[in-house]
Amino acid sequence: MKKILFVGAGMATLVASEKLARSGKFEVTVIEKCPREEIAYDWHDDVERTVFERNGLPMPEEGTYFLKRNWTFIPPSERVEITLDIPDEELDLSIERRPLAEQYVKRAEDQVNFKFGTTADSLLIESGKVVGVNAGGEKIYADLVVDASGALSKLRAQLPACSGVTLNPADSEIFAAYRAFMKREEGVPAPKSTNRVYLKHLGETGISWSILDPSGSVNVLIGRVGSLSKETFINAYRALKVSNPNISDVIVRGGKICKIPIRHPLSRMVYDGYVAIGDSAFMTIPMIGSGIANSIDAATILADVILSSDDLSKESLWEYQVRYYLALGADHMGVDVLKRWLLSADPNDLDWLFEKGVVGKKEMKAGATGKLIKLSFGELMSKLVKGYTRVPLLLKLNSVLQKSARAAKLGRRIPKKFEEKAVIRWQRKVEKLYLK
Ligand SMILES: Cc1cc2nc3c(=O)[nH]c(=O)nc-3n(C[C@H](O)[C@H](O)[C@H](O)COP(=O)(O)OP(=O)(O)OC[C@H]3O[C@@H](n4cnc5c(N)ncnc54)[C@H](O)[C@@H]3O)c2cc1C
Repeated sequence: MKKILFVGAGMATLVASEKLARSGKFEVTVIEKCPREEIAYDWHDDVERTVFERNGLPMPEEGTYFLKRNWTFIPPSERVEITLDIPDEELDLSIERRPLAEQYVKRAEDQVNFKFGTTADSLLIESGKVVGVNAGGEKIYADLVVDASGALSKLRAQLPACSGVTLNPADSEIFAAYRAFMKREEGVPAPKSTNRVYLKHLGETGISWSILDPSGSVNVLIGRVGSLSKETFINAYRALKVSNPNISDVIVRGGKICKIPIRHPLSRMVYDGYVAIGDSAFMTIPMIGSGIANSIDAATILADVILSSDDLSKESLWEYQVRYYLALGADHMGVDVLKRWLLSADPNDLDWLFEKGVVGKKEMKAGATGKLIKLSFGELMSKLVKGYTRVPLLLKLNSVLQKSARAAKLGRRIPKKFEEKAVIRWQRKVEKLYLK
């Protein structure tokens, strides 16, 4: 029986490993560096609610989730704010991550061999092909290594350069976020809205948020592109507290810095004996980083592709990348174009776009859910009228939107069959797009 080894027990692994093992066709092992009781984060995160049904998965257990509330977006000057009005039935669920991970480990463990507290130190490569991993002095061989070990995967970084896989993300493609739930300061009135996100907070490349959690604590995030220095953190935290006096300094949960990818997905996810999934394949929404639903969708695609042919060659696994791009990745290429512009934009321009109503609920909803922002000719004209004093800025914004649409189109033009030269040509076009 062929062996499949997953590295990292995130949601992508928990979904794909179970499906592959239950087919009875493969011997499936998962190695995870954390002990079982410490996998996933000790907090809740937002997940598109339809992802479970869409993938034939059980819903999170009762009492482990609640309905997320609408975002309020605040530009750098903090003079105006936009609160979305997405109806309850379309809002995400905010789900406790550790109980969900445990529920999915339990669901899989009669079929999958889990090894918790085991770190993959390096890839085993023989004759140019990945044949397993070194983990704690032990060689674990497999016909396929599924790398689900996160944005900064050290396994991906060890692939040969000729693999065509991007080995390491650029600093500008990583988001370093401090997250903590703080005790709510007593006697301070409730804020105007619950889920307050500060865009380009203090004019810096990143966001901060303050969310009044249903538990009564305040969910705080301070995230910056590349890294988060102590000084940046202290300044941002102080400013966030001034705008949100309900934040006290007492940490209830969390309180650590984590890193997630904010870029388009890998332009090559497969190599001989190797496939990347989830954050290690950069399957997040470049604008906001949410990757749980993406990694679950990708897990189903990967398992279905493998089960449809039982073939683990990169030529066969390419179908997984094609299907991922057509479903999600191509649009995320477009979102990445917008994100890059937003990060380089002058904070004053951002304030102006919000204050003039040029950027409104429709655009912010699209950005927050990873959809492309599309403007009809009529909408463009009405925005030009609203913003006639800064026509060059609006024209620039329009050309960025068009580039974003072109990026998504290029994503959908992914070669449908694996042919090395055609794949390389397509990859070059993809990477060139982000250099301009
Ligand atoms: C602060 C913060 C807030 C977020 N909010 C949201 C949100 O609201 N909604 C959303 O959808 N997403 C959110 N995300 C992103 C989300 O966490 C990821 O996109 C998602 O978890 C990716 O899943 P994954 O399957 O790739 O595995 P990951 O969750 O990245 O897990 C990787 C696993 O691999 C293990 N590992 C790493 N290296 C090794 C190794 N060498 N050997 C063995 N094991 C290893 C790790 O311990 C970890 O368990 C947030 C992330 C952060 C940091």
